[in-house]
Amino acid sequence: MIAPLVIGNWKMNMLVSEACDLALSLANNSFEGVDVVIAPPFTSIYPVSQIIKESRLGLAGQNFYSGSKGAYTGEISIEMLKDVGCSHVLIGHSERRQLFNECNENINRKVQLATQMGITAVVCVGETQRQREEGNTLDVIKDQLSKALVGLSGQSLAFVVIAYEPIWAIGTGINASPAQVVETHKFIRKFLFESQEFSENIEPRILYGGSVNAQNCKQLLCEEEIDGALVGGASLNFESFYAIIKSCVGA
Ligand code: PEP
Repeated sequence: MIAPLVIGNWKMNMLVSEACDLALSLANNSFEGVDVVIAPPFTSIYPVSQIIKESRLGLAGQNFYSGSKGAYTGEISIEMLKDVGCSHVLIGHSERRQLFNECNENINRKVQLATQMGITAVVCVGETQRQREEGNTLDVIKDQLSKALVGLSGQSLAFVVIAYEPIWAIGTGINASPAQVVETHKFIRKFLFESQEFSENIEPRILYGGSVNAQNCKQLLCEEEIDGALVGGASLNFESFYAIIKSCVGA
């Protein structure tokens, strides 16, 4: 059985000193049986990497640009993320899709680049409230997934994690119910096995994200279909994030 994976997405929060304090608190505590990854903002990635390098914590970038190097003012490459110790990167988060017009083609390019580099691509998918109400959730997920993963080889797929994040649940305090998540995760798993080149020994992890806290996390992680959580707001504070991590132990 694979350990649950919990990723803390710190988004555009915390100055370097605050990010380092939180990373140090996490690194000084044990989380046996759970894989934990933190995604600080760019300015804090390197100092945080130095703090956590002897710990079991993994490090993720929140984004990168799909060029390799050159005249792309203001951008960061996947190689730069690898250079500062990132093992994971978030791709296609709904905030990037909605606020920065990130399209499926660009998301696919990023998934290709990250996985070729041996960095785990955490591919985020999810429906809006309206899409759910109109009964289109699974079609939306299928469309996002098929476009994000097109052209990936079996080898690259070993470096893919899917995060199902219904947009209506992100930052709202309203999490999807275990039944809603299980239904969508089952669909994602079936889709991956039927249409992609997952070999039998590649077990894709499928995480849930959207207003996760320690209470709902325990409930959600009891479900076999849910392999972990992508956590936003509740990952910004040691007590709430550590409670979430602890709630996954033995799940
Ligand atoms: C997210 O933005 O990925 C997220 C899940 O946020 P929150 O936990 O705050 O809903």
